[in-house]
Amino acid sequence: MSCCDATGLLSITDAIKRMKTIANNNKSLLSLDIKRAYGHTLAEDVISNVQVPPQDNSAMDGYAINHIGCDEQHPYRLVGQVLAGQTYDGILAAGECVRIMTGASVPAGTQAVVMQEDAIKEQQQVTFNKKITSGHHIRRAGEDIAKNQTVLTTGTVLNAAQLGLLSAVGHGQVNVVKPPKVGIFATGDELLSPGEHPKAGHLYESNRIVCATKLRALGCEVIDYGIIEDKKSALVHAFNQAAEQCDVIITSGGVSVGDADFVKDVLVENGNIDFWKIAIKPGKPFAFGQYRDKLFFGLPGNPVASFVTFDILVAPILKHLQGQQDTSLLTLNATSHCDINKRGGRVDYQRGYAWHESGQLMVKSAGAQGSHILSSLSQANAYIVLNEHQETIASGDSVSVILFDSIYPK
Ligand code: AMP
Ligand code: MG
Repeated sequence: MSCCDATGLLSITDAIKRMKTIANNNKSLLSLDIKRAYGHTLAEDVISNVQVPPQDNSAMDGYAINHIGCDEQHPYRLVGQVLAGQTYDGILAAGECVRIMTGASVPAGTQAVVMQEDAIKEQQQVTFNKKITSGHHIRRAGEDIAKNQTVLTTGTVLNAAQLGLLSAVGHGQVNVVKPPKVGIFATGDELLSPGEHPKAGHLYESNRIVCATKLRALGCEVIDYGIIEDKKSALVHAFNQAAEQCDVIITSGGVSVGDADFVKDVLVENGNIDFWKIAIKPGKPFAFGQYRDKLFFGLPGNPVASFVTFDILVAPILKHLQGQQDTSLLTLNATSHCDINKRGGRVDYQRGYAWHESGQLMVKSAGAQGSHILSSLSQANAYIVLNEHQETIASGDSVSVILFDSIYPK
């Protein structure tokens, strides 16, 4: 595929656009109890069959009154009481009041509710020591949500407030997009799983747990096929298994130009693969394509490069697959607390630590920035995003940051 601008690099925006075009497959629906729908993506608009509040009700504990034609200091006749969940059958006549609690339906004929702190009750007579304003402290039926109103739209990623809204309009079930099932495996003869005995020339692998955790945070179902040796037949077997059981396949390692990097050969024979030179750092090598009819993302083996490319290049596509409209990341301005080295040419996602100080967002480097350095990544809570044209940053300069917490819904 021809890509690239004068520098020979494809921009991140263009790479995401191209991947989204290819990843535009059909979505299936899943009906979920709202208790289990957090973080899922709505598959259809939600229309309310009811109005909220359902009826005029009191915003205060106090007295519902009919003050039509009454003097300010008029004593009102107390004719009853209505608690939350009850209704009052009569109609309030001028000069009458009923004791009412917050959330209770106001009786017909009510002109206002007066809070109990402004009332003096003597037996069955109540006087009010505040000016009475018509309509005061009455929550009107439908003032929040009208009947037949569209309350949430397709593509919304359900958060706590939206689940509350669904509950408030009486929806206990909701249709969401069935999350993609994603098969993952790590490639590399040198890799060990945690718990295994250390071996000369080997290292404990870390990409699968990172990838699986991020996938689950995006609502995806994950099947972990483990560590696959650098052997073509083993890779073909793993790919076949994943293609049968999953919608998307994500691997790490084995997509460079090394002697044992066979992932490319397997993809060339059974699908297609694009190695785009994307203007992202760290992010080499990143591969995208299809194995049979399943989407494939090949993440770099280096743990930090794998982490960053997942967030910046893979997460938007998995959000898109679930019908989410806005897959962009929230970028904030922060003041750099340190000098930062950067060479031009690629967008650099340096690992930083952000905090608030005197009402300002500050950020500093989280430490060494090598693409194999997990310790600084684990101290970081944000990316410091330095665009392709930016050079060295001086302490006190303004920089863009993306907080890790803002990337995933849960
Ligand atoms: P590769 O892309 O396979 O050439 O791997 C690049 C570097 O990342 C090598 O130093 C690998 O040992 C390392 N690496 C590959 N996969 C993993 C993994 N799953 N966890 C940790 N390091 C890895
Ligand atoms: Mg390898």
